[in-house]
Amino acid sequence: SRAQAMEIDASPEIVYDDIGGIDEQVREVREAVEDPLTNPEMFETVGVEPPSGVLLYGPPGTGKTMLAKAVANETDATFIKMAGSELVRKFIGEGSRLVRDLFDLAAEREPAVIFIDEIDAVASKRTDSKTSGDAEVQRTMMQLLSEMDGFEDRGEVRIIAATNRFDMLDEAILRPGRFDRLIEVPKPNVEGREHILKIHTRNMNVDDDVDFADIATSLDDYSGADIAALATEAGMFAIRDERTEIRRADFDAAYAKVEDADEQTTIPGP
Ligand code: ATP
Repeated sequence: SRAQAMEIDASPEIVYDDIGGIDEQVREVREAVEDPLTNPEMFETVGVEPPSGVLLYGPPGTGKTMLAKAVANETDATFIKMAGSELVRKFIGEGSRLVRDLFDLAAEREPAVIFIDEIDAVASKRTDSKTSGDAEVQRTMMQLLSEMDGFEDRGEVRIIAATNRFDMLDEAILRPGRFDRLIEVPKPNVEGREHILKIHTRNMNVDDDVDFADIATSLDDYSGADIAALATEAGMFAIRDERTEIRRADFDAAYAKVEDADEQTTIPGP
């Protein structure tokens, strides 16, 4: 079950150039994760403790997982991913056990980046910590905190967590020495959307008449994941039409389809 719960990737393929619209966040992650891995002497000489853990927070599909993979890739670190929901287990002690395994594995495979997605599953504020299920989750969180507190001895291991529910987090995990570097990863603005469109179409055969800046203006509130899906959908329209190049009309059709699907999932008002 250890292998099932953790996803290990010796060299994830994502690079910084695959990530659009969040340049400032890329810079911050590099500073907090890459510099301590590649230049630990600098921190020692200056006498500064590198941040213990980085917490990425923001809406779904904005590039949090990509950021973690990219920084692991670009530092030649092993990427070890665990979903917070995987740590919420039925049997007493199972969650803490997995946390221990996770950190042991990272120490074996150093340099390593541990990525815990949906950290809120094990670290939310609890209204009632007396029920037995919650008590078990609480124990798992305590194990996580104690692994992080004993971190310095664990060599070249960095930890990144992500959540869509920052408001739900237990403050205990945000204390100094724990997840003490918070980075918000928002949805992209219009320039960011244009950049992400270009990234996701760079291997596509797109007609010269397609104006990405113009398309980006109509994608208000789209996440990076939404934009990636739109680009794929546009390509599908060209294929259906047995054309080898993607036109503006394909993006418009893709947009209409995505918006239409969105409408159908929205409960109509009175
Ligand atoms: P979740 O909170 O749902 O786990 P996430 O923030 O971790 O989401 P990712 O898994 O990093 O999101 O992104 C999903 C996919 O969406 C990526 O594989 C990529 O195709 C696309 N994507 C998301 N954000 C970006 C971005 N900033 N630049 C380029 N592509 C992006």
